Order: sequence, then C-alpha cells, then structure tokens
Amino acid sequence: MSYLSETRRRRTFAIISHPDAGKTTLTEKLLLFSGAIQIAGSVKARKASRHATSDWMEIEKQRGISVASSVMQMAYRDHVINLLDTPGHKDFSEDTYRVLTAVDSALMVIDAANGVEAQTRRLIEVCRQRDTPIITFVNKMDREVREPLDILDEVERELGMACVPMTWPVGQGKTFRGIMNLRTQAMTVFESGSERLPQDFETIPLSERETLTKRFGADFEHAMESMELATGASHAWDHNAFLAGKQTPVFFGSGVNNFGVMEVLDALVDLAPSPQSRTSTTLVNRQPVVKEIQPEDKDFAGVVFKVQANMDANHRDRIAFVRMASGKYTPGMKLRVQRTAKELRPTSVVTFMSQRREAVDEAYAGDIVGFTTHGGVQLGDTITDGAALQFTGLPFFAPELFMTVILKNPLRTKQLQQGLAQLGEEGAIQVFRPEIGGPMLLGAVGQLQFEVVQHRLKAEYDADVKLEGCQYTGARWITADTPAELREFVNAYPQRMAKDAADTLAFLCTSPYDVRLAQERFPKIHFHPLREHA
Ligand code: GDP
Repeated sequence: MSYLSETRRRRTFAIISHPDAGKTTLTEKLLLFSGAIQIAGSVKARKASRHATSDWMEIEKQRGISVASSVMQMAYRDHVINLLDTPGHKDFSEDTYRVLTAVDSALMVIDAANGVEAQTRRLIEVCRQRDTPIITFVNKMDREVREPLDILDEVERELGMACVPMTWPVGQGKTFRGIMNLRTQAMTVFESGSERLPQDFETIPLSERETLTKRFGADFEHAMESMELATGASHAWDHNAFLAGKQTPVFFGSGVNNFGVMEVLDALVDLAPSPQSRTSTTLVNRQPVVKEIQPEDKDFAGVVFKVQANMDANHRDRIAFVRMASGKYTPGMKLRVQRTAKELRPTSVVTFMSQRREAVDEAYAGDIVGFTTHGGVQLGDTITDGAALQFTGLPFFAPELFMTVILKNPLRTKQLQQGLAQLGEEGAIQVFRPEIGGPMLLGAVGQLQFEVVQHRLKAEYDADVKLEGCQYTGARWITADTPAELREFVNAYPQRMAKDAADTLAFLCTSPYDVRLAQERFPKIHFHPLREHA
C-alpha cells in the first residue's frame, strides 16, 4: 500500500471528559468491539491513578501497564485507530493538553445527568485552539437523566458548537427503550447487561411505526416528537464545519451496557479525519520559514509529545512517545533529534500495531512510536530521518503554584540535579533556576505534581527533599524585540528572573499586579503565559 493509502486509513484520537462521565468504560468497550482487547485490566488499573497519590504510586509500580495503555491501537473496518490516553486528574491537565496536540480528533463523553462539566469545558477550549473536530457521546442514558434537547442546548451554548444528532434516545432511566439511528432509520432496542455484543441488539426499521408505537407506546411517540424538534432546529450536517470544530455529531448510549458504542466507532471511521498536515519551521538562509508537513511525505518526521519514565528505575530508561507526522517507520532506521542534531539511539522501539509490545514492523503518519532511551530526548523534540525542521505548538503553561526544593542530605546534590533535569524533561514538573542563585524552584499547574515529583526523586534518584512554599504565584516567559531591551528589563528585576529547563527566561510574579506593573514600566517587553516549543 502507498504511504497515502496507509495514512488515510488511520484515525488518531483521544477521549476527553469530566471525571466519572464514563471515559474508562467507553475506552474499554471500544477496544472490546474492535477486537483489540487483552488489555481490559490495564484500562481499569490506569484509572486508579487519578484518585490519590497513593494510588498513583501503586500504579507506578506497574508502570509497564500504564505505558502499554498510553496508546491503544485497534484495527476496525480496515482502519487503524490510535486511541491516546489522557490523564484523568485535573492536576495533570498539562499532560492532557500535550496529548491533545498529537491527535486529529477528540471524542467528548458527557454524563447525561450532569451535562457539560468544568473539566470538559477546559479541554474543549484546548481543542478549540487547534480547531480539533469533536464527536460527542452522551452517556448513561440508562439513568434518570436530563432531556436530550436540554443537553444539546447546553453543549451549543456552553461549548459553542452546533450539535447534529446522529442517534436519538427513546426514553431514559428505567424506561430507556433504545436509540433511533437517524442515518440507517432504524431503532436499536436497549437491553441492559455487559455481555451483549453490538450486533446482538435487536433493530427495528423506523418505517414500522405501528410496531414501534405498539411496543414502546408514549416513550416512542415522545422521542419522535423531540427528535423531530431537534433535527428541525439543528443545522444540516456539514462535514467541513465538523472538521473545523464548529459542528459536532452527537450520539446517545450507555457505555456500561455496550449500547450505542458501535455507532461511535463507526463515526470515527466514517467522519473523523485521517492524519492532517502539521506545521513546522525550517531555516532558509538562516531565516525561520513555516513549512506544512503532509502525512504522505516520504521523509520520516515526528514530534515527542510525551516522555514517560520506564519500568526499571535503576536504568533510568525513558520512553519518548513520538507522534508521526509523515513518512514510514521501519525498525533500525536512523533518526536524529533536531534540537541536538544527535542520532537517536533507542535501546528498544515500541509501536502499537498489535498490542504486543515487542512487535515492531512499520508505522505511518498518525501512528505513535515509543522510543526507549537513556536520555537525550525532551518533550517537544522533533525527530526526523534527515530534514532540519522543528514542529511548533507543544504547549507549556505558566505554572500557578511554586515550591522551593530543599535537599535533606547535601551529599545527594548531583542526584537531585539529575533527577530534576530528567523530571523537567518529562514535563512532570517545571524546574526554574533563579538567575541570582539560591534553591531551585518547582513550578506546577496542579498540586499533585509536587507530590509525585517528591516521591519520584526519592524512589528513583534517592534524593530526599523537603518542599517549601515560596512567595511566587505565577510566571511569564519573556521576550523582547532587541537584546538591549531584554537586558534592561533583566537588570531592573534581577531577583525575579529565572531560567526553565529549556533555558528560556521567565519573570516570576508574586501577585497578579506584578505583570501589569512591569508591563507598564516596560511596554516593549512581551510576557507569555504559554511557551510553545519552537
Ligand atoms: P471515567 O472517570 O470518565 O473514566 O468514568 P468511568 O468509566 O470509570 O465511569 C464512572 C462510573 O460510571 C463507573 O462506576 C461506571 O461503571 C459508571 N458508568 C459508566 N458508564 C455508564 C452508563 O452508561 N450507565 C451507568 N449507569 N453507569 C455508567
């Protein structure tokens, strides 16, 4: 098969939801119905990680499992579907944002009783920045939930996407009767239980209206009315509007009962986009020039969107997850890290072609390849088989929480530095070195990040640290149009300047007014709340 046909049959997506809406359940069912399962245990195990640090540590012990479930690949209807896991806990939302830069579409799960919730809103904002197309699954229809019209209205209002129903529920809770598929014009009859396969559900054509009315009575009539209202009021399906993130197809069902899930899997194949072009910069006559990399381009190019410590703490192995943007991966091929121009020398390479971690055959744009290395690879790194280019757009967010690191045993300074450098490269935490010296600062978006880092410093680097609060409440990365302007600013605030893991200069703030005051004093300085790897 040509590169083009290989990449066209790929779909790379992530599931986003507020905790408890049903992401884990749905993931498991998608794997089950595409025949990719063996992995059921790991999907459940991964889930524990969001509840408490103790659970997180437990999961760390089984890191093999959590690595395996970071990317789950399934084959369905002659397509290759890559499902990327996103951490559930909001304290790790930075990781989630970065995973979202590696997908071409997202599946949003909504709890039909709760509607749009806080974390869904935040995640959709991230998708919006990239115009990521979103498929919506309204889950838990077997519960006493809200009216479907009400839910669609909320999605439209709160998330600013026009909803186009693809299925429509008949009844809910105790009287949940099934869903009408508006494309096939048939009703699938609901039965509870988790043993049934999608093809085992009974279907009745909507044209047999008399049968349906007789069997489901007022529930069916009411559903027909509200469905007609909804389709009458909603926009016609516009595939381009969906691809631009402006329209979302909506499906109803009950994940735990295997119901309405196959329709979603089909939508991923039929509606979701195959790998898209990705923006990079390259130097032409020493000037950065934007270059769109097409998925069918022959040269290998990809970006590291996630780095995860490997199972064996003694070896400091790490897996760099590379989302392929173009080309073909074959075992043994020579690849370079563009930032350092060094050859990538992985000790092992994992593709997720067949769920067997040892099986590496080939991979194409849209696929994820995991390279195990001893270092030398950072989040945001661009990997190619030759071309000098750098992908843009992997976000780092300005931390809102800061702690200073105090080492209990000063003899372990070297280990601490190594640990912080590596955890910083993984993106587990942001590390800032104050320009005037003094203890290192850790910056996080969520409190749990500190606990994880403290635990890992001890467990993996034998560096026992105390974390102490400090006066900082924010940071902004700073740039200026000329070196002189930058120097002037740095000289005005020497004790506020720090460099992060990528040696980018940041201004540390102690109150929300800091940036405003500094900006007034130095109108030519740019303050960035977000650093994009470039
Ligand atoms: P996550 O936090 O989004 O990963 O959610 P889970 O998949 O773990 O689901 C949260 C809870 O909701 C679990 O107890 C599930 O069994 C339950 N659940 C998931 N889907 C459904 C559903 O369709 N109906 C009902 N009644 N419960 C569900």
